[in-house]
Amino acid sequence: MKQAALLALPEGMEIDQIQITETGLVVSVISIHPQSCCPLCSEPSSHIHSHYHRSLKDAPCVGRQLQLSLTVHKFFCRNLACSRKVFTERIPELAEPWARMTSRLREQITSIGLATCGKGGVRLADRLGIETSRNTTLRRMMDVPDDARASVVYLGIDDFSFQRGYRFGTILVDLEGHRPIDLLPDRQVETSAAWMRDNPEIQVVSRDRGTEYASAATQGAPQAIQVADRFHVCKNLTEATQLLLARCQAEIAASSKMEEPAHNESGQPVISIEQWRPKEPAHVEKARLTRRAGRKARYEQVMQRLAQGLTAKEIACQLGMSERTVQKWKASGTFPEAKKRRKKHSEFELFAPYVLKRWQEGERNGLTLWHEIQKQGYTGSDRTVYRHLETLKQASVQTSLHPDRLHTFTASTAVWLFVRDKKSLDEIEQEDLATFCQASPTLKRTYDLVQDFMQMVRKREGQRLDTWLERVATSDLAELQQFAIGVEKDKAAVKAGLTWSINNGQVEGQVTKLKLIKRSMYGRAGFPLLRQRVLHAV
Ligand SMILES: [Zn+2]
Repeated sequence: MKQAALLALPEGMEIDQIQITETGLVVSVISIHPQSCCPLCSEPSSHIHSHYHRSLKDAPCVGRQLQLSLTVHKFFCRNLACSRKVFTERIPELAEPWARMTSRLREQITSIGLATCGKGGVRLADRLGIETSRNTTLRRMMDVPDDARASVVYLGIDDFSFQRGYRFGTILVDLEGHRPIDLLPDRQVETSAAWMRDNPEIQVVSRDRGTEYASAATQGAPQAIQVADRFHVCKNLTEATQLLLARCQAEIAASSKMEEPAHNESGQPVISIEQWRPKEPAHVEKARLTRRAGRKARYEQVMQRLAQGLTAKEIACQLGMSERTVQKWKASGTFPEAKKRRKKHSEFELFAPYVLKRWQEGERNGLTLWHEIQKQGYTGSDRTVYRHLETLKQASVQTSLHPDRLHTFTASTAVWLFVRDKKSLDEIEQEDLATFCQASPTLKRTYDLVQDFMQMVRKREGQRLDTWLERVATSDLAELQQFAIGVEKDKAAVKAGLTWSINNGQVEGQVTKLKLIKRSMYGRAGFPLLRQRVLHAV
């Protein structure tokens, strides 16, 4: 009796003997039930006819394969109305009537299959003392019945790609239960609509901004409220803002080229710390000025001849220069200054902000400053420090940002300054943002509108959507207007998305999990198997 408890056998089963074989354990088990019910008429009977032997594979015992050699009774059915005269006793707690393995072993194989799939599952099972094949594992997985579908009230729907992005399927998530409830083999309107029709209890459908799932919900769940997922709405706004930024950046770049360099009150040019270069040594400066004078003379000769009506080709010939240069000068209309030397990366750059700060505090002694930065790790010469300080006597250097810094942003990096919550920006990011807004009034207006929208998203103030759309309509921001037109077409759902707390965030998570499962299947498994694994993932 104690032994039977050890193997967790159902009541009325006794262990007769245990044999240790090469492959594992063979346990002989005898049923001692005095009576059993006929499977056909359900009448109990205690009239034993004979015995019946069955062999069942069971869950492994301390890593060894376990075989049950089972002896059960055959009973007479005494019900005269029953067509069955003799029946075999059934032990439903242990195994199905015709099964060759116990239910608990079948469950283990199913779990291993769902967690690992295919070959890997067979190897793992072998390690655990379970003998199985790939086909058995796959069959067990496919046999798992769909859960009696709990009614889904809040449905999240999204697509996922399988077969390397050539085909797309649909994932349906119970947003209340936080679990996937079904996978569909495509993302056709009709397929999703049919699914929703079978689930008339749906009250809310949270979906992306595409038209497929919107139509599917309209057709399949007309009773449900549609919610446009906030994540997708924000993504659309970010894309629109990025386009706008790209346009404005081009405008800023064009206007800053035409502008004279800025000057401070004492007439000194103002440059940014990025432009801060050491003063040229006298002989270098002299050589540069000589070259410039030569170019200037040449430029004036070209202009004179152009005024006389000579062609670019004739002038190029006369002055021994290339025709292209003549044309370029002609087109530019002003004397083209030589391009500034590209700044070489120097170690000093790292210490520039510190030196500048000390200079602004009034420290004018180059040697002192050199010693100070040496202590911080500077290994350059004192001359480099002196030459940088020379520049400070002629120009004012600002650590605060200059529009120049805006060129280091692309529209796709700058857009995050505009859409993120200002509180989450660090000091430098806030300055960058301020510089953008100062550089272009268009960007300032954009920022205000974008932040107002994001505020609606964060605080669920969907009721302000109409006012916001009106503001955009009367603005001069074409890219945002384009976004607003899209919102207008899907307004009820967007408004719901901005008002309700529900959203598709977790669906993205489920899609990520699905991708992991798909990858572990080496891409060979078909849709039905993928569906089983996702829905019954352990
Ligand atoms: Zn019967």
